[in-house]
Amino acid sequence: MNLDVLAIAAHPDDVEQTCGGTLIRMAELGYRTGVLDLTAGDMGTRGTPEERVAESEAAAKHLLLAWRGNLRLPDARLENSLPGRMTLAVKIRELKPRVVILPYWEARHPDHYRAGELGYEACFLAGLRKLDPYSEPHRPFKILYSSLYADVKPSFIVDISSQFERRMCALFSYVSQYGAGTGEPGGGLFPAEQEIRERLGAIARFYGNLIGVRYGEPFVVKEAIEIGDIVAMPVRSI
Ligand SMILES: [Zn+2]
Repeated sequence: MNLDVLAIAAHPDDVEQTCGGTLIRMAELGYRTGVLDLTAGDMGTRGTPEERVAESEAAAKHLLLAWRGNLRLPDARLENSLPGRMTLAVKIRELKPRVVILPYWEARHPDHYRAGELGYEACFLAGLRKLDPYSEPHRPFKILYSSLYADVKPSFIVDISSQFERRMCALFSYVSQYGAGTGEPGGGLFPAEQEIRERLGAIARFYGNLIGVRYGEPFVVKEAIEIGDIVAMPVRSI
């Protein structure tokens, strides 16, 4: 499979909070997008791993994904181990993404920054011809770090104003985590849903405001960004 964009995340429901709007927007542009969750969230208080994987498949439909998978690595004790890196590198060779989205390299939850580290190293390994005789080498061209929950200045922000509602629907597919009821005719919001809608709405609004749109998702890249036409540059200066 040749994906244009692959987001790699520690837990099911991570991308729905951090870069799901961007994935929807890319799918709407005709790109093939995918998500690889590293764990099934088996240490979570609510829901079984099987439920969360099933919920992530329902969320995938809202996100318009061409592919979604789960490596079922151990949750809450994700390690940047050689077997973990190798498994992920071989998966990257199979999926051949041009762009990979990883969690930002600093985070409160160790799984999140480990997923970023593991993803970065696996992208490098995936490009080595001699890594594995059964798969072709493939190194992603671009690595973006999703920085929504990191307190850092984004390198760029994607306008997700038209994708925000669909992203919320994807998140609320995780019924075991956020309760049921949203989107049903006549059904009110559960308090937990109301709270998370307000919180994620405020965060997306904050980043949107930085580029003069309603909702946005922030990303960091390690390399510089090239601009060919400075006259057509968006976002009014402050
Ligand atoms: Zn998470």
